[in-house]
Amino acid sequence: MNIIFLGAPGAGKGTHAARLMAEKGFPQISTGDMLRQNIAEGSALGLAAKGYIDAGELVPDEVVIGMVRERLAQPDAQNGFVLDGFPRTVSQAVALEELVRIDVVLNLKVTQQTVLERLGGRRICAACGKVFHASRLQDDQVCPLCGGQLIQRADDKPETILHRLEVYREQTEPLIAHYQKTGLLKSVQVDGEAEKNYRDIMKALGI
Ligand code: AMP
Repeated sequence: MNIIFLGAPGAGKGTHAARLMAEKGFPQISTGDMLRQNIAEGSALGLAAKGYIDAGELVPDEVVIGMVRERLAQPDAQNGFVLDGFPRTVSQAVALEELVRIDVVLNLKVTQQTVLERLGGRRICAACGKVFHASRLQDDQVCPLCGGQLIQRADDKPETILHRLEVYREQTEPLIAHYQKTGLLKSVQVDGEAEKNYRDIMKALGI
């Protein structure tokens, strides 16, 4: 099944895509993770993307479309995948339609309050990549799983979160109407607790 997770920053796209990958084997294709990986490696693409990401702006379409085109050509993406964070503009969606068939677009709906709470407290382990919420950690500097250092994403600073929400509303939200027209769109309200949200997502996907 070829799935798109659509939704505002903080909706839980990455969390649920990672679980779907672990349980059902669909690779999680996260453009945000791929861009951060490029930044960490110091590649030309990473250098070009860093300023946009840190400012909460979208990286130019041609950069992400090229990256996704290469990723979708990999052998593990031939039997289903979850796209997490792509497409984020109508142009990206149109380019994607030329690359691959999509079976379902799942719109993860959240309130602004949920986004601010989740992203404001988000901490990520620099060593194992696991994501936590500061309110559930005894020590918000150390990973409870591997002992690695917990970091806050540069774009999770309060003023950048608000800007990312604006960018989402202006550039990504129009995708909801776009996919409604194609009949592929399903929506799930995911403000509550992760376990219930995951069950609702699985129910909506019918798997
Ligand atoms: P994410 O991890 O999905 O929240 O993405 C983090 C940042 O990476 C975004 O705020 C953008 O700057 C950039 N990014 C990720 N995916 C895309 C995309 N499909 N188009 C443009 N920029 C993207």
